[in-house]
Parts: sequence; structure tokens; C-alpha cells
Amino acid sequence: MPLKTPEQYVDSLRALKIRAYVGGERVEEPIDHPLVAPHVNNAAQTYTLAHRPEHEDVMTAVSHLTGERVHRFTHVFQSSDDLVKKIQMLRLLGQRTGTCFQRCVGLDGLNAVYAISYEVDQGEGTDYHARFRRYLERVQAEDLMLAGAMTDPKGHRAKRPSEQDDPDQFVRVVKRLPDGVVIRGAKLHNTGGINAHEVLVMPGTALRPEEKDYAIACAVPADAEGVIFIFGRQTNDRRKLEGGCDIGNPRFGAVGGESMVVFDDVFVPNDRIFMNGETDYCGTLVTYFATWHRSNYGGCKGGNADVLIGATAKMTRMLGTERNAIVRDKLIEMIHLTETTYASAIGASAMGYALPGGSYMVEPMMANTVKQNITRNIYQIARLSHDLAGGFVATMPEETAFENPEIGEYLRKYHTANPEFDVMERVRFGRYIENMTSVTTMVEAMHGAGSPQAQRIVMLGQAGIDKKIELAEQVIHGTDDVAGLPLPGRSERES
Ligand code: SF4
Repeated sequence: MPLKTPEQYVDSLRALKIRAYVGGERVEEPIDHPLVAPHVNNAAQTYTLAHRPEHEDVMTAVSHLTGERVHRFTHVFQSSDDLVKKIQMLRLLGQRTGTCFQRCVGLDGLNAVYAISYEVDQGEGTDYHARFRRYLERVQAEDLMLAGAMTDPKGHRAKRPSEQDDPDQFVRVVKRLPDGVVIRGAKLHNTGGINAHEVLVMPGTALRPEEKDYAIACAVPADAEGVIFIFGRQTNDRRKLEGGCDIGNPRFGAVGGESMVVFDDVFVPNDRIFMNGETDYCGTLVTYFATWHRSNYGGCKGGNADVLIGATAKMTRMLGTERNAIVRDKLIEMIHLTETTYASAIGASAMGYALPGGSYMVEPMMANTVKQNITRNIYQIARLSHDLAGGFVATMPEETAFENPEIGEYLRKYHTANPEFDVMERVRFGRYIENMTSVTTMVEAMHGAGSPQAQRIVMLGQAGIDKKIELAEQVIHGTDDVAGLPLPGRSERES
């Protein structure tokens, strides 16, 4: 079965000689750097759980290309059931890591390129889809981690790609050769890029016919010449250099270990190019990717919220407040917010429909609603966690202070609440809450898979306001049934 073990995953990363900068400095072996290693652990969990027999059904799938059982993170969605299992997989992994485990961007990217390459071929007579299928067979056989790269720097936001003073603000083809192309530009917020095998480059916006050079989708090995990863920093990241419980999430990083990836005139051979100049299809490609990715958040953030709810509930026990009715009601509210979002993601998946190329898309209205809710619910869940855990989370001193013989005794004495619990356990859980509800985590929930307004635009477009007016008229005027109205949540494409 083509499933890497976590050890094989780490070894295979070591075999890549990538150009990476961490903490502003060039590092030879980034995956061993203390700022990066926790993020490698996040992704490694996806490999670990795929080998557990009890998780085989959600962590793996049968490839429609080869009939082999492959990692679900390399699988093309073949049914609504596949989409549902993906959300279940994300919740499972979110529970095990308490954070982002990175591989979904590549998964949604490969599904988007799979679907669009078929449609481009149908419309333009190209042969991208067969190329991509061959590439995907290798990805599945080697259980590769792809970093999906879509977000361009975008430069002046009021200008289109072709209008920028600096044309490199969107990744573009700068040279066309008989055997491939040369690309230049950068992609931002690249989740897991520094610990992925390959970067899957996709256009980040709809394009006009005169913007052909920006319509490029291709796969680039992480260690290809000219590829540079610049690792971003996160809230409290330097605590990882100190070690100890102040890190918060001691084994795993906060969110996805994002990088800027620079393409400094990178050559891409023809067999790795899956779109090259077909501007008409870029908007659809971006929509496909974003719709799948928006539904994910009900899974992964649901799993993360499970851990946060658990940490918060334990804090209430350590404080002795757990029987208070108001405290219990606030925990119920955290549960309600979590399950509401998860239910929407499951609904979007259950209502999935087939795309022209045969793969399955989630129901767009529900998928966008999931992500819109996440931009609020995660903040509200964090707020309730802060409310219940208390100001201690923000004011406790560092772990070393508790070990200082001059003051440690005072800290232990005056931070002891319910004496059944060791004070350092309270510190540990407080630090987890502090770090997993801090700025980086919140901003990721806000902007990952698109900023809130992007979802609202789709929601309005999907809502069918004119049809809702017809419904109102039918009810108010007592006329006969209005024909052809879709059921809520059911795609019109199949109704
Ligand atoms: Fe996956 Fe969630 Fe991380 Fe996005 S934020 S890559 S959906 S775990």
C-alpha cells in the first residue's frame, strides 16, 4: 500500500535540499529548526493516523486511477461520501493536533487542477488532464505532501495583474521554451510549504484574455532551483527556543507554519504544466479550490475547538467552578458553536454534486456559510475560553519563575485553586489556551480560504434573491406553488 510512515515522510524531506530562511537566516536543514519542527509534527500526524486500522476508512481511499488504497490527502473526491469522509478526517486530525495539519491546501489544489484540466481540455483541445493524471499517480504512489500555492502578493489592490507597476506581483510566465516555461513571482501564506515535497502553483484570481502569462498552473519540486521559502513568524514563536510549557502546544505548532515562497525564474518542464495561458478557466479554478477549502474549516476547526473546549473544561475543574450553572452554559455554547459549523461542513459534503470531469464538489452555499461562521465562531469560542479560564491566562509568569527558589513558592501558593490539581497543570493548560487563542490562530481563522467578504459575495450570488421574492409573493398572495425552486442546500445543478 503506497502509504508513507511518518519516519519515511521526515526522511524524504531531509533528502530534499531546499533553500529556506527561518528567523530571517538561511538554514540547511529547516525541518530540524525548533521553529519549524513542531509544524513537521503536525503534518507527520497525517501519515501516522493513516496506518491505524481504526482510522483506515477516513484516512485512506481507493484511488480511481490505480485501484490502490492511497492516502486520502492524495485522493480525488469521487462521491459525496468521499467529501463527508474528508471532513471527518479533518476533525480527527484537528482533535489529535489541536492545530492545522497543513495537507488540505494541497489536497484541494490537486482536486481543483484535476477538475479544471479536464474542462480546459474539453474546451481547448489541450492534453493537460492526462498529464495531471500521470503526475497524480506519482503523488499517490509516493504519498507526497503538496503545498497548494494560490495567494499572490497582489501589489496595488486597485489594479489588475497586468496593470501593476511591478508585473511580478502575480506569479507569471516570463519565458516560454520548447520544453517548458520559466516562472517568476511569489505566493504568500503558503501552508506547510517548508515541509512539503512539492508546490502546486495555481492562478490566484480570474484573469482577462490579455493576462495569459498569469494563467499558469504547475507543480514544482520544493528543491527546484530558484524556489526560496521564507518562514513566517507566529505569536510567541520564540518560546519554542526556550522549551518548557510556555510554548503552549508543546508538540505541534500554532496554525500551519506558513511561508512566503519565491519563484526566482524557476524552470518548469512541460510534463508539470497543467494550464498555460487559458485565462477563461482561472476564475472557475479559484472558485473550485476556495469552495472545497471553505468547507474544510468545519472539520479542522471543529477538531481544534474540541481540544480547546477540553482544555477550558479542565480549567474550570482546576478552579472549582465546573458545577456552576453559568459556567456549564458557557461550555454548552462553545459546544453549540463547534457542532453548528461541523454540521454545515457535513451538509455541504452530503449535498455534493459531480463536476464535468467526474469528481465531486461540495454544495457552495453551505461551504461558504461554514467559513463565514468560522470567522465569527472561532473568536466567540476563544472569548468563552478566556472568560472561563480567567485573567491568569494573560498574567502568569514564565515557567522558570515557578522554579526560582526565591519566588516559586509564592507563585505556587497563590496560583493554587482546587488543591486536587498541581499548580503546574493549571499553568500548562493556561498556556495552551493562551497560545491557541492568540493572534496568529485567530487571523488564520479569519482569512484562511478567503476573507469574510469573499464568502458573503458567493452567498448572495447563491441565495437566489429573486426566487425568494417569488416565494414571498406566493405565500402572501396565496398563489399556486412556484415551480422550479431548489430545496435549501440542494445544488440547482442536480435538482
Ligand atoms: Fe487544513 Fe484547516 Fe489547516 Fe486549512 S486551516 S490546511 S483546512 S487544517
